[in-house]
Amino acid sequence: MSNTPLFDASVSVLRRALDAKEISSAELTNVFLDRIAALEPRLNAFVTVEREEALADARAADARIARGEAGPLTGIALAHKDVFCTRGMLTSCGSKMLSNFVSPYDAHVVTRLKEAGAVCLGKANMDEFAMGSSTESSFYGPTKNPWATGRVPGGSSGGSAAAVAARLVPLATGTDTGGSIRQPASFCNVTGIKPTYGLVSRYGLVAYASSLDQAGAFGKSAEDCALLLGAMTGFDKRDSTSLERPVENYAAALAAPAADAARPLAGLSIGLPREFFGAGMTDGIRQAVDAALVQYRALGATMREVDLPNAKLAIPAYYVLAMAEASSNLSRFDGVRYGHRAAEYDDLFDMYRKSRSEGFGDEVKRRILVGTYVLSHGYYDAYYLQAQKLRRLIAEDFRRAFGECDLIVGPTSPVTAWALGAMRDDPVQMYLADIYTTPVNLAGLPGLSHPCGFDGDGLPVGLQLIGNYFSESVLLNAAHRFQQATDWHVRCPELAA
Ligand code: GLN
Repeated sequence: MSNTPLFDASVSVLRRALDAKEISSAELTNVFLDRIAALEPRLNAFVTVEREEALADARAADARIARGEAGPLTGIALAHKDVFCTRGMLTSCGSKMLSNFVSPYDAHVVTRLKEAGAVCLGKANMDEFAMGSSTESSFYGPTKNPWATGRVPGGSSGGSAAAVAARLVPLATGTDTGGSIRQPASFCNVTGIKPTYGLVSRYGLVAYASSLDQAGAFGKSAEDCALLLGAMTGFDKRDSTSLERPVENYAAALAAPAADAARPLAGLSIGLPREFFGAGMTDGIRQAVDAALVQYRALGATMREVDLPNAKLAIPAYYVLAMAEASSNLSRFDGVRYGHRAAEYDDLFDMYRKSRSEGFGDEVKRRILVGTYVLSHGYYDAYYLQAQKLRRLIAEDFRRAFGECDLIVGPTSPVTAWALGAMRDDPVQMYLADIYTTPVNLAGLPGLSHPCGFDGDGLPVGLQLIGNYFSESVLLNAAHRFQQATDWHVRCPELAA
């Protein structure tokens, strides 16, 4: 084995060590549990850590490895965003409303990863009901960015991104409704992929905006993400939007040698949307993104400008649709069936009112109010219907652009990690930071963010790759080739354990 500490090793290195019996999964799991115990007080990346259950999973994985039946993830530790239902384990969704909810069943993704033999260490912190871009709206307090603990890790999957960045766990799941995998990946210097809508089952995922929600993967590299995503995908008849397609082996596709080793991306045409390179992004981000484009050219990719004229309207369209769907989805939390119930109330309606008033935080309430408003009689046509039309126009823009290129590339976020509390009184300012990620969800396309440098404050910058439907392997391959030629993704924050 190399000199890399185990907590910093890639999944393929860990795989070899496990298969060669150089280390057991139980020992490896303890390495991560010890690191969590040492660093978690400073980061708050987890809502729940299940030490005993994790070690039991690890022992089962060791038995499977001994039988020679290990798959790529058998015995490898991971964390689930706390939006995924996990049987017998708290599933809080970052909310007081679900702070007493122990799920009676597993999400499809959780089942798939259990079947793969992965070891679940616990549940990662997140914005309440996945609403936010900073993980500050969690009932369990904000997660801190491991690169600068006075700053946010991004959101809503901030716990997942911070845990991978701090090497508390090699892999983590997340969900992305408007950027919640890609943006925290960029803020924390890790790789994150949100697949095509419908590729990963939403069964057992606490719903935020169902037409946009999609589960995906975080890892230290595109290669690690390929392994995790590969184990998550697949048709599930319990999700009516799950797509019936053959499961791809993304990791095997990356391992295939390039025809031209010096220029492994020869033939790849990259589109640069004029709208993503205008005003609005900071100088530090522009410099890092420009340098990454130079690298992509050196790898053989060609570049051309493309137009996404309606992308600038993605924020109002996204926030109208997401809030409308949220107001409907969150009506199920009424204090009757599960979740928080007020201790005292006069009658049924008083119980609904008090349970919801006490159980939801401010941002969630704001969204339920706005969502209810845009769906109400007299406003539906003016807001909801308009937003649906914009959604179609944005998807059309991408369709046209993909007639001219294979991949669309730009910054993941116009800003790097901001200070904790900086946007507390200005939610709209926070919404605007989702400008580059939300168009992708509106169109249902796959998107990936990978590390591409640091700004003047030493904060990570992410590059976003957007692909056509089902082009996950193209995204992962491009990022993998970039990562074979650069070392941004292996940089790890200094957090002495
Ligand atoms: N920041 C966006 C929002 O608040 C996206 C969240 C997400 O993708 N879950 O809705």
